[in-house]
Amino acid sequence: MNTLKSYNPADGSLVGEVPTASAEDVVAAVSRARAAAKDWRAMAPQERADLLKQAGEVLLEKAGELGALLTQEMGKPSREAVGEVKSCGRGMASETEEIIAALEPEQINDGNVVSTQYFEPLGVCAAITPWNFPISMPHWLVLPALMTGNTVVLKPSEETPLIAQAYVDVLNQFLPHGVLNIIHGADDQGKQLVAADVDLIAFTGSRDTGAKILAAASGSLKRVILELGGKDPLVVLEDANLEHAAKFAVQNSFRNAGQVCVSTERVYVAESIADEFEKLMARNAAEMRVGPGDQDGVKVGPMINEQQRSHVLKQLHDAVARGARVVAGGGEHADRFVNPTVLAEVDNEADIMRAETFGPVVCVNRFASDQEAIALANDTEFGLGAAVFGEPEHAENVARQIEAGMVGVNQGCFGASGTPWVGAKQSGYGFHSSKDGHRQFTQRRVVSKRAG
Ligand code: NAD
Repeated sequence: MNTLKSYNPADGSLVGEVPTASAEDVVAAVSRARAAAKDWRAMAPQERADLLKQAGEVLLEKAGELGALLTQEMGKPSREAVGEVKSCGRGMASETEEIIAALEPEQINDGNVVSTQYFEPLGVCAAITPWNFPISMPHWLVLPALMTGNTVVLKPSEETPLIAQAYVDVLNQFLPHGVLNIIHGADDQGKQLVAADVDLIAFTGSRDTGAKILAAASGSLKRVILELGGKDPLVVLEDANLEHAAKFAVQNSFRNAGQVCVSTERVYVAESIADEFEKLMARNAAEMRVGPGDQDGVKVGPMINEQQRSHVLKQLHDAVARGARVVAGGGEHADRFVNPTVLAEVDNEADIMRAETFGPVVCVNRFASDQEAIALANDTEFGLGAAVFGEPEHAENVARQIEAGMVGVNQGCFGASGTPWVGAKQSGYGFHSSKDGHRQFTQRRVVSKRAG
């Protein structure tokens, strides 16, 4: 039997292994999901929620143990790993209720015809997920897929199979057989799953993989939801609270070692305040301790693998060779790690300004007018998150002109609960969360009859 081995990115030690799915295993998992679909869709949403809520309680009870596994496998600081597990546990209670509300039929009566719109399950959902939030990313897709009455085959990232398996094992203590299935492997297993007899593909990952999935799904017109990469800008206006903006910039660039789809990767700061802002960023960046995620006080863990580390360092060195100034960090990087680095005056055509970095390196460039800031922020194929810091009304006015799905004003891009997680341009295709997002996991059916 072939196995998929999972290594600790902080030291290269083996954490564990799982069986790799063969082509037959992929088909068998989809068949199990198909066989379970009839009974699962017949259950009332509240019954499905009751099962998932029990699983949520177990996730909360086991948050310490699962968080430790998450850190071992993916590298992030322990506190953040435990927090990630807990947020999934708590979500089982709150999000299930939100999804039940989204499934309520809606009626329209125009005086002649009364139409009722129902939100029915699609059937079998393939969920394909990345490694950077290795329990949240599966959870964000599996929960709405299940709650809306679909059965699921999950293929988690090949970098983090163990924590995904642990998540599925907890849910499967409560779910009927075949409702939630997991297969392990990399690109090949992903492709096989996309090609299999599934009705919906819910994907979170890179833009390039998303484009391949969309192409592969087009022949049979399978439904597709894609949550993709970003190159998020932060605009710091001349009337911003500089301490606040610099604190956010450093946190949001270096959290999870920059391996966050909504990391700040490009900062645009008003010329008049740029020197002061750079000093504050340098001071804050120096406080980001780098090391293995299970060590006390560590804020920035390792890169997930050598390929990702080389990509980040290549972008960094290329930017410096093109004349970028190193404001903080740079220097020698320990094996497996990248020092939090702030670059300034970066060539707008450098790869680091165009392609997603997904590492702890942030670029700070200057602008002379709001219109220039907006043009620079929008000069990208991506459009996931963004932030604007400044006097609130001024910042909101600029925020409205940024071509991103989610824009924060004096805060990060996370919206109020009930709002969608949505990308613009090449950062997304479809979306999830919110009433409309939950409904993307359903088939709408309109049943009409004569009024009166
Ligand atoms: P990736 O695209 O390399 O892989 C994602 C998943 O797709 C993995 O499970 C992988 O095995 C699978 N896969 C690879 N090729 C496939 C194919 N041809 N067909 C089907 N499946 C295939 O991404 P990654 O390196 O795991 O994750 C990082 C990326 O994810 C970044 O671009 C990041 O911005 C993005 N991301 C986006 C969001 C969001 O909400 N928009 C959230 C987290 C991560």
